[in-house]
Amino acid sequence: MKKCVAYLRYSTPKQGALSFEYQTEEIVKYCNTNNLLLMKTFSDSACRGKNAKRPAFLEMIEEAKSNPEWDVILLYNLSRFSRNEEDANAYKKLLRSLDIAVISVTEKCTEEDPGGFMETCLDRLYANESRKKGVASYDSLRLISKQCKHCGGKPPLGYDVDKETGLLVVNESEAQLVKTIFNMYNTGFSYPKIAKYLNGIGEKTKAGNSFSAKSFRDILTQEKYVGTFLWGKHPQNSRNLEKALTVVENGCSAIISKELFAEVQERMSDSGSGNRCSKSQNHYMLNGLRILKCGCCGKYLTGKSYTSKGYKYVKYSCPDRKCVNKSVDAENLDNCIANILLKMFFLNQSRDTLNALISSSQDPTLLKVYENKLRGVKMKQGNLIELLAEVPSEAAKDKLKALSNQQAFLEGKIAEQQAVLPQIPADGDTEAMEKVCDAIRDELINSDDLDVKLFIKSAVKEILVEPNDITITLAQTTC
Ligand SMILES: [Zn+2]
Repeated sequence: MKKCVAYLRYSTPKQGALSFEYQTEEIVKYCNTNNLLLMKTFSDSACRGKNAKRPAFLEMIEEAKSNPEWDVILLYNLSRFSRNEEDANAYKKLLRSLDIAVISVTEKCTEEDPGGFMETCLDRLYANESRKKGVASYDSLRLISKQCKHCGGKPPLGYDVDKETGLLVVNESEAQLVKTIFNMYNTGFSYPKIAKYLNGIGEKTKAGNSFSAKSFRDILTQEKYVGTFLWGKHPQNSRNLEKALTVVENGCSAIISKELFAEVQERMSDSGSGNRCSKSQNHYMLNGLRILKCGCCGKYLTGKSYTSKGYKYVKYSCPDRKCVNKSVDAENLDNCIANILLKMFFLNQSRDTLNALISSSQDPTLLKVYENKLRGVKMKQGNLIELLAEVPSEAAKDKLKALSNQQAFLEGKIAEQQAVLPQIPADGDTEAMEKVCDAIRDELINSDDLDVKLFIKSAVKEILVEPNDITITLAQTTC
């Protein structure tokens, strides 16, 4: 049995772990089929093949000179040997003189290629390839992806890449942002509205830009958010879509529940989802929540207003023009639902539920996020003020103005989070109680706040509108 050694080399640490395994796998396969005994492995990591500063490689050459018991060196491919043609030739000449063969296990050019013609061609090819930057082999990427390691580029919003393991780790403040985007979309906010809100609170995309209406499609369809590690989804990422697709369930930490993700996908595929930017001046409490259903055709009713004979009508109606269902008065229905929700609190150990509603917009994680942002804004302000003291600049002044707007916004949000919650009046104080009820009713009907929308969506399961009947189904947990 012939004895051999293997030489492995990988260029970047990230590719490395994987390439290393892949190369080993191929070399062992070759040994098995060619009846070779693998004695030892020399491996260099994080070294570019272009220069020869490869300690393991030099160690192997030294060992080769000392008349070792092995006489074959196996490589994954010739590019592992060297990407510099002259260098490769010099070493190969030396090894030939020592009677040591160099075999590429994937390219099938060995001693049977006596003139070394093919080898020279390949050497040239690799030397050329090395000049092009960022050539990561397709096989390598595929293997990286199978280990759920990040395959390059920016990771999705909500994740960072662990520099040592190459795995995705959750970035808490960005994950909060991802949740907000999913919840906003799922309660009927349009893309432009989500962008406006996020830009208002100074949030940025993963690339550090402002959000635009185009920012969200990729986010809302990102399977990694439910823990499914997917690679090679887009045709431009792979030569062959079928071959490229890597799917690993629970391959990364989930940020969004599977239920919410599924709801959002369904909503995205439905053009009548109520997420389109409405030109209407009216506010509809139930618009876009996908709870108000047409009993005739199953579509979701949407808010519409029109003027007829001098009267203004504000209605919820079926988007299907051919549908025979009548539209319902929006104001009446909104009031009715708000009253039912209010009654629900008082029938069911009212205080806890009511307190929960009042405090639903308070979230300690969010408070932290706002406080961190405020610190950042204040630091930038300080730097700018110092700069302005030395060099007067209009641009810096504008920037300072923008920063103080952001500061005011963040301080408002922090105050909201820290606010002392309104006290629920004692039993018997009807007047005070009515005031609280009015305030909550008004909030339920007119607020565009995400928390209020989420609350309504969670409390009301469905409102089925039939030609002569409206059936309201409340969520079981709350009723
Ligand atoms: Zn209908």
